Amino acid sequence: MIRLSKIFRPFNAPPRNKLPKLLKNPNETASKGYKLLCQYGFIRQSSHGFYNILPMGHRIIEKLTKLLDHKMISIGAHKSYVPLLTKQSLWEKAGMYDEARDEFFEVDNRNNHKLVLSPTHEQTFSHLLSTELMSYRDFPKLLYQIAPKFRDEHRPKLGLLRSKEFLMKDLYSFDIGPKEADQTYQIVTEAYNDIFNSLGIKFMRVESAKESHVSMAHEYFYFSDIGDDRLYTCMACDSSYHASAVADRHTCPNCLKYLSEDGYFNAIEIGHTFSFGTYYSTRLGSCFVDKNCQRSPLHMCSFGIGVSRLVSACAEVCSTEEDELRWPLPIAPYSLCIIPPKLGSVEEKEIKLLLPDFYRLLEAIPSLSDDIVIDDRTEYTIGKRLVEAKLTGYPYILVIGKDALKSTPLYELFDLNHEKRYLMPKFSLLQFLIRATEMLSESSLKIAYLQNATTQQPSTDS
Ligand SMILES: [Zn+2]
Repeated sequence: MIRLSKIFRPFNAPPRNKLPKLLKNPNETASKGYKLLCQYGFIRQSSHGFYNILPMGHRIIEKLTKLLDHKMISIGAHKSYVPLLTKQSLWEKAGMYDEARDEFFEVDNRNNHKLVLSPTHEQTFSHLLSTELMSYRDFPKLLYQIAPKFRDEHRPKLGLLRSKEFLMKDLYSFDIGPKEADQTYQIVTEAYNDIFNSLGIKFMRVESAKESHVSMAHEYFYFSDIGDDRLYTCMACDSSYHASAVADRHTCPNCLKYLSEDGYFNAIEIGHTFSFGTYYSTRLGSCFVDKNCQRSPLHMCSFGIGVSRLVSACAEVCSTEEDELRWPLPIAPYSLCIIPPKLGSVEEKEIKLLLPDFYRLLEAIPSLSDDIVIDDRTEYTIGKRLVEAKLTGYPYILVIGKDALKSTPLYELFDLNHEKRYLMPKFSLLQFLIRATEMLSESSLKIAYLQNATTQQPSTDS
């Protein structure tokens, strides 16, 4: 049993409109998502621009990681790991050192070798590929990692939205020509669309302003007033642009119609994709042997999703007017929270005896395995715990109260993301939860469970 009382989750829900004590810098309160993540015990500042990810926050990161791994494997990408500290000389060789060093954390080792705590790893992966000369037949190669990155931001702000250490999923692809690289770019782009679609939050993909070493680039955004990026959508043709990507701010680059001021909005960047052509390969010597047995430079793309940033962005975009967090089901810290009766109540003793078996029955649903937390702080009323559960945003909250002792026991289920409340008998509850969470598990396991539960139906409801 996963017991809420044992989780380090400092819960601090202050009266409305009061500045939480944890946030000393008033600018930080500009992000509601950040404020709520701190108040409800998901993250806590460690030092300026750095954050401790507490267990509830880490559950979200783990689920995002699983989701990303699954999608990356499906497109033929392979997970790897490279050191966070990279040689300064590698950055110089790639011609990126002077441009990027302003935001570097730099380190000297005992032999006075210069190292950089990397904000990105194009150099490292391109260099890695240069250490092995492979045939054109061996490509494409797609390597990715989910690892911390560092950037010594001048003005870190809004918690995980702009922190000095952050978690990224970064993928690097290597192809033998521009056509093949474009194809890979398309495949990864579709995978990114799938990932963002599976979270169910409206997102936007736009072409971004190109830097000199980039041949093509796109960014993914969530709409939000606190976002640093300025986008606009043309009312006439519905295409969207990054404000910095368009030279004439009054004319739509697509349909050439006049752009009204209403089309502008702010957004949070959640992903970025780049095609570099042979920029890195020619500088770092990553080559392949072509059909004519000649060395030729590889075409490289890189693809990033800000994992820790996405947690903050979700909290920002999904939280309610009442300061309640909401989570897309695939990444909710726990899909289900069970609230048993208050200590000393009439029903408490009897339900306490039933609870372990009931918990095991729910746990056996494959999509809910290790994903149910029980709010065992029975010194509090059901009402108080229900309020906290709603603030935390578990997609499903199950209250086991007096109705569970009726001749036909009934259970109260709150479906937060659909704003629904149900009172149902046990078998209907199990069926409901299986259907509601089925996207989270393998279908074969689910069917097996349902068949099993069906054969046991008479005994489970009696
Ligand atoms: Zn247009």
